[in-house]
Amino acid sequence: MQHSKILVSGMLGVVLLTSTGCRRVKNIYSRTDEIRMGAQFVSAFNESKDGARVIRTGPMVTRLQRVADPIIAAARKDWDVPYTVTLVKDSEINAFAVPGGPMYFNTGLMQLATTDDELASVLAHEVSHIVKRHSAQQLSDAAVKQGIAGILFGRSNADVKTVVGLTLNLKDREFSRGDESQSDEYGFKYLVAAGYNVRGMASMFTKMQEAAGKSDEKLAFLSTHPLTRKRIEAAEKRAESYENGTWKAPK
Ligand SMILES: [Zn+2]
Repeated sequence: MQHSKILVSGMLGVVLLTSTGCRRVKNIYSRTDEIRMGAQFVSAFNESKDGARVIRTGPMVTRLQRVADPIIAAARKDWDVPYTVTLVKDSEINAFAVPGGPMYFNTGLMQLATTDDELASVLAHEVSHIVKRHSAQQLSDAAVKQGIAGILFGRSNADVKTVVGLTLNLKDREFSRGDESQSDEYGFKYLVAAGYNVRGMASMFTKMQEAAGKSDEKLAFLSTHPLTRKRIEAAEKRAESYENGTWKAPK
């Protein structure tokens, strides 16, 4: 049933794409599809060479989980999926989120985020990409354009490999500026709900930009999450309006 439903909606997506000429097609995935996608990603990640770098216990894992818990509780009110946070031993400053709940954070990013408020701001941003289904939308676009929407979640190993390959690529895809600003906006909402210092987001962005300035190589996080002066200013403005009582949470 699931298989044919996706095939049909995939075909509708193609029709939509060709008839409107729009870059984006409708997200063809259901919440259940996204949760399954997330689970497939986690097993593929664990089996890949990256899997050996996952840190499962210790003070950094405890900190990541503790800071994440209230953010996840707030996000779940908007989009209820099984969120998880995983720590990866990697000095590169990076974090990414996968449809259906899984989020990954590198030790390099955790070290840069010296305060919990700063770490919470990245967590809140990442969780918002899942809530607003940005990656699922990107994957949907890619699957429809490549004409493979119909084979997603098929039972053969080849089908699963195709899905996992596409999903794995997602972590290297750049989000649009619109997606980024939406994730900042919702992220801010979850920071407020979780009781973190609202200045943490601007402070973390500034740190990332400074780190990028010092390094010859582009920061991995910034190559997938384009950070502009505008985003930092927007984060500062949001904190100001919260402090003077004029901020309104996005619905
Ligand atoms: Zn982002």
